Amino acid sequence: MDELQGELRDLARGLGVDLFGVADLTAARDFVRAQGGEHIGRFSRAVSMGMRLLDAVVDELFRHEEPSAIYTYKGLYNSINASLDRAALLIAKRIQDAGFRAYPIPASQTVNPRKLEGAFSHKLAANLAGLGWIGKSCLLVTPDHGPRVRLATVLTDAPMAPGAPLPNGCGDCRECVDACPVRAFTGAPFDPSEPRDVRFRAHLCSDYSERRAMRLGEGLCGLCVYICPHGAKGKGA
Ligand code: SF4
Ligand code: SF4
Repeated sequence: MDELQGELRDLARGLGVDLFGVADLTAARDFVRAQGGEHIGRFSRAVSMGMRLLDAVVDELFRHEEPSAIYTYKGLYNSINASLDRAALLIAKRIQDAGFRAYPIPASQTVNPRKLEGAFSHKLAANLAGLGWIGKSCLLVTPDHGPRVRLATVLTDAPMAPGAPLPNGCGDCRECVDACPVRAFTGAPFDPSEPRDVRFRAHLCSDYSERRAMRLGEGLCGLCVYICPHGAKGKGA
């Protein structure tokens, strides 16, 4: 199994994946099932993959009211999602060739637009795999790149060795809470025993995105990605 895991890691790196880990989903099974259904909840492992955004693009997001900045961000966002989806497909094929089941979850998937939720939480897998912690922004915050990553996941029954969650590194910081134009974050730190609503009023972000789409032609905001001091090495503001 170690050999397969090493092979998958090398394959992912060759496809441009910057962060790679394996999560044990068994303790989170009820949560996963409730969110995505039995066909998602039956897998015991998740391969979590992250790809860095480009700092030069994210660093301009303080101009998030300017179409040139936000459209460039949107282009980057779409390109990285497409690269991650291709990596997830090829990783899933390799796992299947090794005799296990593999179910790729696309990088950008929303089955509940009001709650901004997909069928499976990439952040949950990345957190359990040890790639980062869940910040007050409800984003995955990685030690080296902060929330400046996009994620994809391959669910599997291949019994690979999992990582372990990292300690939460937000501390007293409230930058994302104060920067959000619609005050979508409550400032509560991540607690896996509490529902996400305790930390994130997703409908405020979703409504803001709809208003931006009407006004600017693009709904993405990204200020909570831009502002986090973890990963912000040369912000423009
Ligand atoms: S994307 Fe913008 S509006 Fe939505 S939570 Fe982040 S900072 Fe707030
Ligand atoms: S901006 Fe601060 S509080 Fe928000 S996720 Fe980053 S470190 Fe945590």
